[in-house]
Amino acid sequence: MIVMKFGGTSTKDADAIRNVVDIIKSHIHKQPIIVISAIAQATNMLEKAAKLALEDKTQEANLNIDQLLNRHIRIINEIIRDFSRNRNLIEFVEISMSGLKNIIKGISILSELTPRTLDSIYCYGELLSSKIVQVALEEAGVHSQWIDTKDFMITDENFTRAHPIFSIVENRLKHIIVPLINEGIVPVTQGFIGYTLSDRRTTMGRESSDYTASIIGAALNVSDVQIWTDVDGILTADPTVVSNPKKIKSLSFEEAYELSYFGAKVLHPNTMLPAIDKNIPIHIYNSRRPQSSGTLVTTYINNEPSAVKSIAYKKDVALISVKPKRRFGQYLFWEHIHNTLNKFNIVVNLSMTSDYNYSFVIDNKNPINSIKQELEDVGIVKVCDNKGIICLVGSNITNVDNIFNRIFNVISDVKIELISSGASGSNITFVVDNEKIPETVRRIHSEFFNKINDDTVEEL
Ligand code: ASP
Ligand code: MG
Repeated sequence: MIVMKFGGTSTKDADAIRNVVDIIKSHIHKQPIIVISAIAQATNMLEKAAKLALEDKTQEANLNIDQLLNRHIRIINEIIRDFSRNRNLIEFVEISMSGLKNIIKGISILSELTPRTLDSIYCYGELLSSKIVQVALEEAGVHSQWIDTKDFMITDENFTRAHPIFSIVENRLKHIIVPLINEGIVPVTQGFIGYTLSDRRTTMGRESSDYTASIIGAALNVSDVQIWTDVDGILTADPTVVSNPKKIKSLSFEEAYELSYFGAKVLHPNTMLPAIDKNIPIHIYNSRRPQSSGTLVTTYINNEPSAVKSIAYKKDVALISVKPKRRFGQYLFWEHIHNTLNKFNIVVNLSMTSDYNYSFVIDNKNPINSIKQELEDVGIVKVCDNKGIICLVGSNITNVDNIFNRIFNVISDVKIELISSGASGSNITFVVDNEKIPETVRRIHSEFFNKINDDTVEEL
């Protein structure tokens, strides 16, 4: 068995979906389980409609819904020729449309958009796209079955960032999927969305369809999790910043985790977690160039040469420093800091302690002012909210000859803060001003990748 996950750009229109069907057909002997994201931009449009409804712009919200659903209808009419299949699908879209419009109405009447309501809107993107792909497979002669994640992807009630309850998910998947596979049927399901034991739709965080794929892969112990996207694999740097990035042939789970955690967009960071536990390889492939060899993410190979594998960056973070006002007892100071971070559910990207002065970096979409106010109870707080993080990743990175010299020589004129070489030893990370990111990344990339000529990377 394998899992094949297709992202939004792979299903964005009728041609893209035909292509997905061809790719699935060429892997049919491997017993694929298919995971589908919403078609490109669908999740954003659903979110926009919900927010418009909250501002009491119901008409505009409904217009957005109409536009989105018409895109689905156009796709259906282009690829589903069989009359009754076509009619059933269109009916499914129409039922979804009235469901969505009811929720939109509710939001504007109540002037309230809770995470729970947002999840009940988000889910339509994946429900519709997965249904279309499943019917398109049938139309192409592939015996397949649509499975609603509500039957197996049971999560907690953390709406918009729910966590799956693995024991239940695993148990249900084995009961539902294995018999289908044994009968030669291709199961098609949704990424991103889950369901609570109290019958509510949830989602597991934006871009988390990759995570869905590896949860399913780990639960069923598949031989490969394939993430089909619109780039050739994981690159040595962001191609919109660097003119000559190369494709990396393989990475360890840890390297891929750190790259995605620090801003590389190809994979959701959580994807690696279930796969590590069961040691299941993850391949990233380009659905527009299915013949390309992609990138393999797998377990760390101990004798790998020391190298910088890739450079990631994350813009728009805030660097916050707290210096104790009076000499608070250390315990009280730390307790207050941790309580504050917990209270606002903050994920800290990077942190440094000296004496008991504490500096840390968080996404600047967090409620920075409220956090600042709270921390001022114990310290003098300094906030710079126009910063970015640059992260160089490689399992043996700290063993690369002269690594720190080489990095800091090429960017000696750039102001650098909060340098860390990571507890794992597999990254070197630091903070610069947002606007310095592109130039800094370019210079470091050319230092480490322009001259190399080895077989761990491929020219694009
Ligand atoms: N459709 C969802 C999103 O746009 C999930 C995903 O694509 O992975 O966030
Ligand atoms: Mg993605």
